[in-house]
Amino acid sequence: MSLYKTYIFPIHPDDQEQARQISRCAGRIYSKTVSTVHKLHERKDIWLSESAMKKLIRLYAEDFLTHAQSEQAAVEQYYKALDSFFVKRKSDDTARPPYRTFKYQNVVYKESAITRMDDKVRFSNGRKGTPLYIKVEYFDGEIKYAEMIYNTYKESYQMHVVVDIESNIQVEDSDKVMSVDLGQIHPIVTFDGDNTRIYNGGKLNSFARFQNKELSRLQNKMSRCTKYSRRWRKLNRAKKKLLRKTADKIKDVLRKYTSTLIGYCVDENIGTIVIGDIKGIRENIDYGKKTNQSLHQWIFRRLTDMIEYKAEFVGVNVEYIDESYTSQTCPACGNRYKPSGRNYRCKECGFEYHRDGVGAVNIYKKYTVGSLERKSDWLEGVLASPVGVRYTPHLRCSADWNASPFRTGHSKVASAEKAAV
Ligand SMILES: [Zn+2]
Repeated sequence: MSLYKTYIFPIHPDDQEQARQISRCAGRIYSKTVSTVHKLHERKDIWLSESAMKKLIRLYAEDFLTHAQSEQAAVEQYYKALDSFFVKRKSDDTARPPYRTFKYQNVVYKESAITRMDDKVRFSNGRKGTPLYIKVEYFDGEIKYAEMIYNTYKESYQMHVVVDIESNIQVEDSDKVMSVDLGQIHPIVTFDGDNTRIYNGGKLNSFARFQNKELSRLQNKMSRCTKYSRRWRKLNRAKKKLLRKTADKIKDVLRKYTSTLIGYCVDENIGTIVIGDIKGIRENIDYGKKTNQSLHQWIFRRLTDMIEYKAEFVGVNVEYIDESYTSQTCPACGNRYKPSGRNYRCKECGFEYHRDGVGAVNIYKKYTVGSLERKSDWLEGVLASPVGVRYTPHLRCSADWNASPFRTGHSKVASAEKAAV
């Protein structure tokens, strides 16, 4: 399956002025095209061909700080409108060729002007212009083109990036369900009716601990100097860098974990993922400003975004279900009590299980059975012990899934970059 998706990215405030200038260039080219075509039509009764116009523009825009392809695209924008006029004219005598000029115009970046880098995308503005960079979080795949468009509501330029996502993997119509329990100790625990998988949180928690330690050290120093002083600014920069670096490390773990999770769904033909909705997960949190608690919320949010996005790609549904009491209720008999120690042991019915798996089992039960209290006979047998998933820098999942552009797209572009240098 191939999927064209458009992602909208903000352009950094520092780059807005440059964006405006580039958009102005596109506007000048578009307007020049309009006036040239009209003049020639009025005086000589000919319609200048697109290729001739493109040659003219090459000279006209020689000193523009824009990419040649973007300049040509501005001409194409006009000829597209002109073509629809030619079509319309056949049935409508009153049709007029496009005549409006624009001070500013959308700027098209073609494939050749776009380079995917590690955590950013580079948009070339030709040999003379400075390239624009967009920070991206977690999409891969082939970027087909992009368009820089002014958002009047936000009063700023944004980059609309069109990505072609190839997927030959689709989960066939399947009733199989897998629950996802998000937590602080283990970021993800899943249960699919047979197997429980616990994604190890050691790495994530050590990143978080390190960050908190460094952060309080920096903030302590900052509190002792005058706000906005040189030293304060320097510390503030260090603080921002620390937050950015931790975020990158955490995102790397999350990317690999969610790819592994989706790979499992593909292998096991799971049609629906049910996520236990922790209160506040769906709120957008500006991470870094708050405490440890919100760092975890930030992680949950990233996790659910990544799961949703990757699941859609392979045709897996994602649903949310209220997770209240799922960690305290006995999956077998519905008795509620707070477990202590590593194992969950129900005093009513004797059900025993690894404590960390109970939440996922209950989310699964709540979704498939409809209620936590109702007895479920499928739980009367002995559940398989949880399996651990541990982060390694080269964590692999399904071989098929690894062939998807989620992973390869990334490294391909990165190595092409290096080769060009
Ligand atoms: Zn019980």
